[in-house]
Amino acid sequence: MKQAILDKVKTVTDKPITHIINTHTHGDHVGSNEFFPASVEVVAHENTGANMQKMDAFKDPSKEHGLPDRTYKDKLTVLQGNDAIDLYYFGPAHTNGDTFVVFRNLRVMHAGDVFAGPQSPLIDVNNGGTAVGYPDTLGKVAGGVKNVDTVIPGHSKVTTWQAFVDYGEFMRSFVESIRAAAKAGKSPEQALAEFKPADKFKAYTLTRAKDNVGVLYKELQK
Ligand SMILES: [Zn+2]
Ligand SMILES: [Zn+2]
Repeated sequence: MKQAILDKVKTVTDKPITHIINTHTHGDHVGSNEFFPASVEVVAHENTGANMQKMDAFKDPSKEHGLPDRTYKDKLTVLQGNDAIDLYYFGPAHTNGDTFVVFRNLRVMHAGDVFAGPQSPLIDVNNGGTAVGYPDTLGKVAGGVKNVDTVIPGHSKVTTWQAFVDYGEFMRSFVESIRAAAKAGKSPEQALAEFKPADKFKAYTLTRAKDNVGVLYKELQK
């Protein structure tokens, strides 16, 4: 896996890798950290740092150096000048440690898996994810991050800032629709059946919507 990453990096630069930014704790995003030398600085949100401490993948002393060397709470800038990368935390969604990575000079944001693609998201409650809070966090990103044109979703092709903002609208409409159905005493099945996404979201994959409804109903009972 490390070689695949190195090969990819070599297509854009000959310079050595100095930093790894982990957007969140999942194995498909942090799973190769330990293959890089301890001198490579691993950066993540503090909650992701705590979540990673619990992973078996880093328990072995020979792999501990894959854990974050540097964590932050709300915002952190890595590197300077044209290379500046701004890391933002706006609250829980996919997990409780989701970082939005803004390559300032390129006007590009990596959204991690909060925006995996045009689809219903995975909400990892075991790592602090939330359905109720999901649209709030997306709204804070849309309002708080400036000067981004291009967004890299966690598991889909590169898209526009507007597509990311639209995704927030989709999640808002989904959560509001399900919440209203729950309030009206409807079953999760009914709630899901009655959710009708707006026309512009017709191409979205809703495979995980059923799971999202389950998470939402549980949270609303609390
Ligand atoms: Zn992922
Ligand atoms: Zn993930």
